[in-house]
Amino acid sequence: MLSHGRDDKGLAALADHIIDAMRQPVDYLGHQCRFGVSIGIAANSGVDAKQLLVNTDLALYRAKGRGRNRYEFFNEELQSEIVRTKQTADEILGGLERNEFVVYYQPQFDARTLEIVGVEALSRWDHPQRGMLTPDAYIKVAEELNVVALIDRTVLTQALDSFERWSRSHLNIPRVSVNVSARRLEDKDLIKGLRKLAIKKGTVSFELVESIFLDENDELVTWNIEHIKGLGIDIEIDDFGTGHASIVSLLKLRPRRLKIDRQLVTPITSSTAQRQLVSSIIDIGKSLGIEVIAEGVETMEHAQILKELGCDILQGFLFGYPMDAKAFKTFAQSRKWLAAS
Ligand code: C2E
Ligand code: MG
Ligand code: MG
Repeated sequence: MLSHGRDDKGLAALADHIIDAMRQPVDYLGHQCRFGVSIGIAANSGVDAKQLLVNTDLALYRAKGRGRNRYEFFNEELQSEIVRTKQTADEILGGLERNEFVVYYQPQFDARTLEIVGVEALSRWDHPQRGMLTPDAYIKVAEELNVVALIDRTVLTQALDSFERWSRSHLNIPRVSVNVSARRLEDKDLIKGLRKLAIKKGTVSFELVESIFLDENDELVTWNIEHIKGLGIDIEIDDFGTGHASIVSLLKLRPRRLKIDRQLVTPITSSTAQRQLVSSIIDIGKSLGIEVIAEGVETMEHAQILKELGCDILQGFLFGYPMDAKAFKTFAQSRKWLAAS
């Protein structure tokens, strides 16, 4: 606590000095101990003591978030960012209550026959003022809020519902995939909830969005994944090649499929090296008995190359955009993608 007399520059220099001093190792009973410190700074600009502490804490939180061993000031930018996040958070909770979250479906095709072999269910927020929002507008805040698992669950429920209706209309859609956040895999009641849904073996696939945990030895996550498989639900690795899924994690996890990230697929038409890379990933999949899906198939040339490289399944704007359940039904009945190819 400083009563007065220092401007921001002075405070920053003091914080640097403290961080430096705290870095010095300390000898304790013959052991060399090392410490670090993060600092949040807020100035009393007309707020009461309680608010001042809250502001300092928010700045500290940011300092930790930006890598620790550093300081951050509480400022207007941080303030408005927090207000924005809080607003979005409130709106998400309200939106969930009002059932504003809907599901779009994007078809996936057999690379050789171009028959539909599955659909990916993608979350959308039908926002009363802002229109139909894609996940980049809300998933991050939902994660911070711990409600992403709730969104995942409503997506699965709606997807199963649509799937049931497609079956009744003889649409011949073999499988629906949903994205599953790491948070959901940390839920100890996940399997209990899934059992109640009585999912038919092989009709549902879980895409693991964040694969960071795959290399960690989290017992609950491992247990959940084994039991998901036991329920006849396939495991897929999403965004393979750009996330954290290593070859070792593939061996451990034994997923049914892996999806090559769009960032790797896009350049295969212009770069031999990139094509080679995708070819190698497909070969890894083949040698491990894992099916390979390519995302972001946007041109006929992409589709042709991927087919030649032995890729099993294609997904992308070339054959079909994500669409709502009604549009998807019309699309699947029309079989119009066959004419385009
Ligand atoms: P993802 O699972 O990799 O989904 C594929 C994304 O690529 C979708 O974006 C889709 O619209 C887009 N895409 C498909 N084909 C093409 C193409 O040919 N070109 C281009 N440029 N883009 C294509 P979307 O729907 O905005 O979803 C973004 C991400 O949000 C998803 O990436 C997934 O990580 C996350 N997400 C979506 N729904 C859920 C959900 O229900 N739960 C969770 N936890 N995450 C979700
Ligand atoms: Mg996905
Ligand atoms: Mg993906």
